[in-house]
Amino acid sequence: MLRPFHQSLAAVRAQWATPGGAWALLALLVLALCGGHPARAATVERPVLRLAGCVAPVQPGDTPARVLAAPARFDCVRPTSDWGPGSYWVHYVLPPGAAAPAAKGQPRQFRFVPHWQQSLAVITRDDRGHIHARTYDDAALSRQLGFGAMLGVPLDSPGGGEVRDVLVRLDGALNASGLLGDPQVLDTAALHGQELLAVAALAAFGGLGFGLLCYNIVLWLTIRERFQLTYCLSLLAMLAYVWVNSAAMVQLVPTVAHTQRLATSYLLLGFVSALSLQFITDFIEPQCLPRWLRQSARQFGIVYVLLGLAVAFAPPGWRHLADRAYAFSFVPLPAIVLALTVIAWRRGSRSIRVLAIAWVLPLLMTLLRIAHAFNLIGFSPLVQYALVIGMSIEALLSSLAMSFRIKLITEDRDRARADERAARQLANIDALTGLLNRRALLEQLIAWRSPGALRLLLVDIDQFKAVNDRFGHLVGDEVLRGVAEVLAIRADLNASVARIGGEEFALVGAAETLSEAVALGILADIRATAMAGEVRVTVSIGMAEGPVRGEDDWRELYRRADAALYQAKSEGRNRAVHALPPVLPATPGSARSAVA
Ligand code: GH3
Ligand code: MG
Ligand code: MG
Repeated sequence: MLRPFHQSLAAVRAQWATPGGAWALLALLVLALCGGHPARAATVERPVLRLAGCVAPVQPGDTPARVLAAPARFDCVRPTSDWGPGSYWVHYVLPPGAAAPAAKGQPRQFRFVPHWQQSLAVITRDDRGHIHARTYDDAALSRQLGFGAMLGVPLDSPGGGEVRDVLVRLDGALNASGLLGDPQVLDTAALHGQELLAVAALAAFGGLGFGLLCYNIVLWLTIRERFQLTYCLSLLAMLAYVWVNSAAMVQLVPTVAHTQRLATSYLLLGFVSALSLQFITDFIEPQCLPRWLRQSARQFGIVYVLLGLAVAFAPPGWRHLADRAYAFSFVPLPAIVLALTVIAWRRGSRSIRVLAIAWVLPLLMTLLRIAHAFNLIGFSPLVQYALVIGMSIEALLSSLAMSFRIKLITEDRDRARADERAARQLANIDALTGLLNRRALLEQLIAWRSPGALRLLLVDIDQFKAVNDRFGHLVGDEVLRGVAEVLAIRADLNASVARIGGEEFALVGAAETLSEAVALGILADIRATAMAGEVRVTVSIGMAEGPVRGEDDWRELYRRADAALYQAKSEGRNRAVHALPPVLPATPGSARSAVA
């Protein structure tokens, strides 16, 4: 069961730099899930032996043999990070049988996560006193790292004996949170299992992150909210951080030295923190966050990036200080996020409620990592994967939170659009009659795209002032409504009807449908209708037609129809007058009376 999955792992390491690498990763993940799981491997292996070492500073003239011969020089009590930066020996004594090869003849492995140092040597001494050294400079160390940034050194002694002492020499160690991360002795198969776990974590986070990135970029193209962009940027920073920190990067770019990779990792984590803070402040509704808090969050973000740069580029003597400042700068991070959450919550932010849920676990994971940086808790796989787990949860849940936020935004936009439509409709309607008003009619005409000629009917109630004088304005209003009703019925769907002045109306439609017969019908209907129950009125109509290609044409058409109306009035009212085509001079004389 184990064999194919080890072979696959070897294939992945060889193919990582090829286009097939991604497929191999995917295949490996499937394999891991389908049977080659490390937990299963552990059932046929000896248990992992976690090591605790003793530390001694390197002295001039030290050789491994001399150091191993002087065990009293080593301090096994004081925590390693208390020694500060420098060059050190770390000694591990292996119990009998611990380094004996497995039944299949595969050597046991001494495995650890190298921290920041200039060079490193792993020296073994077997039970026959044979000493064997493997030295890794900064560049070589990088190339030797497996996925998960682990170094596995086989415990096979060329002297043929069983290894009983492991001595590690670290030159130029930063020793910020220990000299070696999580040293263990384990079977080769178990080491591969751990690497596979790292590959699976990387592949899972990579796949998730890439998917979320594509999805949110597409969403941003339609919604265009700033927080979507900061989310994508923070996701990119996270993907880059995990890629670099897990040492997957050196499989693709083997020329990057170990400390260069670590420096990049510091810087990227700074970016992750800065962009995540920026995302939260962009995500919360602007009115729910005071300016000072928004600015403080941004300034903290800048500090993270600057301190990341400081660690990356500090001269060796100052790097330890920069690293401590960097680690300390993360202590207030949970407090800032908490402050953002509490203040926005109290100010009624709806988005922060969903975001707060998304951030609980990532924050706990960050606290775990901070606790490790200050040596409050030891190194463990949970610490190792804390950030990847935290980032995965944060990326996924933040995306869900964004869906919720986008739902709120689109609801707001839909409501605003509906209100605007209603307001525009209201602005286009004449309140008394419910017909279009003058402005709306003009807008419709200018937007008219029909190639044929238009006909305009101007309808004016005769002697309306007298109606008002006799029956009062309220009855006058009723009459206006009655006339509007008759016009609307006559126009049907063939024309637009508007009230363009006090007692003046307009009908506009295609010349062939809005015919003279319609005008006659209007005259007859109005005459026959008792408005407001008792009032009978008549109207005069001026008609004109012509093409309307722009505002000038419309003005000309109106002028001719108005002239025809004037003529209808002067000829005795209660009639329609048709203006003659525009080729003739448009004088009252150029109109012909259509109806009397
Ligand atoms: P003509 O036959 O020449 O058109 O005579 P007219 O009396 O109809 O015309 P004039 O322009 O002298 O009077 C129009 C009247 O319409 C005057 C005004 O009081 C009345 N009017 C305008 N708007 C309204 C309104 O909204 N309600 C009422 N009740 N009357 C209105
Ligand atoms: Mg009138
Ligand atoms: Mg009038």
